[in-house]
Amino acid sequence: MKIWIDQLQKEHTLPSKAYYKLLTCSDADSMEYLHRQAKEVSLAQFENKIFIRGLIEISNCCRNDCLYCGIRKSNIHIDRYRLTQKQILECCQQGYELGFRTFVMQGGEDRVQSINWIENVVKEIRHQFPDCAITLSLGEMSYSDYKRLFDAGANRYLLRHETFNPTHYNQLHPKEMSAQHRQQCLLWLKEIGFQTGTGIMVGSPYQTIDHIIEDIRFIERLQPEMIGIGPFIPHHDTPFASQEAGSVELTLRLISIFRLMFPKVLIPSTTALASLGNEGRLKGILAGANVVMPNLSPSNTRKKYSLYNNKASLGAEAAEGLKLLNMQLQTIGYEISMERGDYKG
Ligand code: SAM
Repeated sequence: MKIWIDQLQKEHTLPSKAYYKLLTCSDADSMEYLHRQAKEVSLAQFENKIFIRGLIEISNCCRNDCLYCGIRKSNIHIDRYRLTQKQILECCQQGYELGFRTFVMQGGEDRVQSINWIENVVKEIRHQFPDCAITLSLGEMSYSDYKRLFDAGANRYLLRHETFNPTHYNQLHPKEMSAQHRQQCLLWLKEIGFQTGTGIMVGSPYQTIDHIIEDIRFIERLQPEMIGIGPFIPHHDTPFASQEAGSVELTLRLISIFRLMFPKVLIPSTTALASLGNEGRLKGILAGANVVMPNLSPSNTRKKYSLYNNKASLGAEAAEGLKLLNMQLQTIGYEISMERGDYKG
């Protein structure tokens, strides 16, 4: 197994059968070696610095009905909200004072917050915080809408492809949505010039190892600047309520594989990983992740952005908990970087 890991580190790609072996390997020493090599690569690129992004969850209203997601439109049990432009700018101001230089606006595909409205918010953030990066994660849009947001001053866009395989995609999404359209959106984002992030949920229902290898190949072709890998976690008010959560070990393994494939890529240690407990956030960093996205949303809406059960949003997950986060990072020899943290390819 070590031969494959060394080859991945050197050549940044492997034959599919080797990915299969890595993803199914049960030898603890080999996995420790994989994580150690990935951590070394991450340290060589970013030293012991972890970039932070202030996450603002702007709306939990969504026109989509993804079977895994707690804010899907058929969930009648959640209390829907939309932040106003004023609230978003207050979040940015609070974040700026805490030291954040990247704001991530994430939300459901909410057509009440129209493209004009989002464009105005982006322009206003760009105007008030000219030295900050603006990241959007607002789902699928047309080429021209993405272009408007880029021209308004947004720099980065996160859109996980979720799963490359069309049959698997259809098992997770309603029939109006397609893997092909999601992937097309990612190509548009790259073409327009966004630093683009994609990724998957690990352990989503019906996912197989072969699906994950298709995801690795897609990511290899896309060459994204950011890769978000988090475990699937069930939400009690969705059709997948009784499904098992994804594996932390497999998530960490994929973080390490992507770090060896793409030494410079930005990889968050995700909230979903942290939400499964046992210091998931720190384990992600030790496996090669280099970004953390603390929650900057107003405290009274955090619980309402309920994508899955027991989503972490307090303590070191919260923007106001930066000191605590830094103390936790220091226990493993890392610290927060206050830089903007752009992709440097
Ligand atoms: N609407 C935007 C989009 O579609 O990309 C952004 C919001 S969406 C809720 C953000 C991400 O949350 C999705 O890409 C998905 O991977 C993740 N997510 C949703 N439900 C989840 C669950 N039950 N477990 C883990 N991650 C989940």
